[in-house]
Amino acid sequence: GAERAKNVLILMSDTGGGHRASAEAIRDAFKLEYGDEYRIIVKDVWKEYTGWPLNDMERQYKFMVKHVQLWKVAFHSTSPRWIHSCYLAAIAAYYAKEVEAGLMEYKPDIIISVHPMMQHIPLWVLKWQGLQKKVIFVTVITDLNSCHPTWFHPGVNRCYCPSTEVAKRAALDGLEDSQIRVFGLPIRPSFARAVLSKDELREELELDPSLPAVLLMGGGEGMGPVKKTALALGESLFDKELGKPLGQLIIICGRNKVLKSTLESHEWTIPVKVRGFETQMEKWMGACDCIITKAGPGTIAEALIRGLPIILNDYIPGQEKGNVPYVVDNGAGVFTRSPKETAKIVTEWFCTKTDERERMSENALKVAQPEAPNLINETFIVQCAPSAMTKVVILSGHFLGGVSGLSK
Ligand code: UDP
Repeated sequence: GAERAKNVLILMSDTGGGHRASAEAIRDAFKLEYGDEYRIIVKDVWKEYTGWPLNDMERQYKFMVKHVQLWKVAFHSTSPRWIHSCYLAAIAAYYAKEVEAGLMEYKPDIIISVHPMMQHIPLWVLKWQGLQKKVIFVTVITDLNSCHPTWFHPGVNRCYCPSTEVAKRAALDGLEDSQIRVFGLPIRPSFARAVLSKDELREELELDPSLPAVLLMGGGEGMGPVKKTALALGESLFDKELGKPLGQLIIICGRNKVLKSTLESHEWTIPVKVRGFETQMEKWMGACDCIITKAGPGTIAEALIRGLPIILNDYIPGQEKGNVPYVVDNGAGVFTRSPKETAKIVTEWFCTKTDERERMSENALKVAQPEAPNLINETFIVQCAPSAMTKVVILSGHFLGGVSGLSK
């Protein structure tokens, strides 16, 4: 009879916005490419099937990255394999039944993890169930450079790395060459497809049609010096002598509700739009002329595709540090932690140094599209374990090819 649709279980968590964006990128690409042949399930298994501390990861992560020193300590102290393995083994033993039920409920043929904490426990579960040979397990790493070693697990069928830098780390950590593949970061297909013109987008999003626009954000959680930067821009983008604005500001606060309501209650002298978590980022980016963000890989990759010059105003210690030189050395943006300096640069880009802005925009596009005029759209076929005859399509995604050039 007809073969049943294959089940693809994508494991993610809303720690930040990057893991969800990658999960959605892979899901959408599967749909575009294969229609109903695959049933795609995107899940945060921890949140739904376990207790503390796994089900509380979002809150803990938010707390720690707000207090960066804590995150630094957590990131580096859990790096040795024996430490995180012991820790994860203890949790796995404690929640074994629940996680097992959670994973098996979906009868996955393929499990794709886009999260650093979702290798060890699911792989143990597969072992307990005697399913290692039947279920394909792959990791898609969503950090560009200095990523945490829990991403690397020798038991995976494939480990997709966004850059040669990350691939080197994987090899050092004991993964075989046959397990490692270097592709860019998975990008949502909506970014790869042609978007509407800037004019049309501005009309749709109810923005000023003629004033240059700057997009200010801080990842899925609205992190970094967003508020101070917004206030500084409010000042510098208003020409006091002429009494009129030099530009407009769009602030995307993500899931940071406090930030959103604070900014909404402010009296602005320039046109400002304050938004919460947006699902159509490609439109907002397409309507703007430059972007200010912390050094999140997802946002950087998307901004490069849209050709937006980038001002990086913060990074999360550990996994995001390496993203700063990636943008700056490629001439696609600048780094400054000072909100005043940021505001000054934007004002210059809009008024006196428009040529610099254009040059950086061209560089951004070049980084995003190294040789081909289009994003690389690849289908990877994985021949699974020697015994099995099955041929399984693993990933079909739109990958940002240029990110692979990171190590140069
Ligand atoms: N994002 C979104 N809507 C928002 C804010 C962010 O879809 O309102 C997306 C953004 O486009 C990017 C991701 O969330 O794809 C953020 O990932 P990044 O790696 O930049 O930072 P993280 O939030 O993971 O720390």
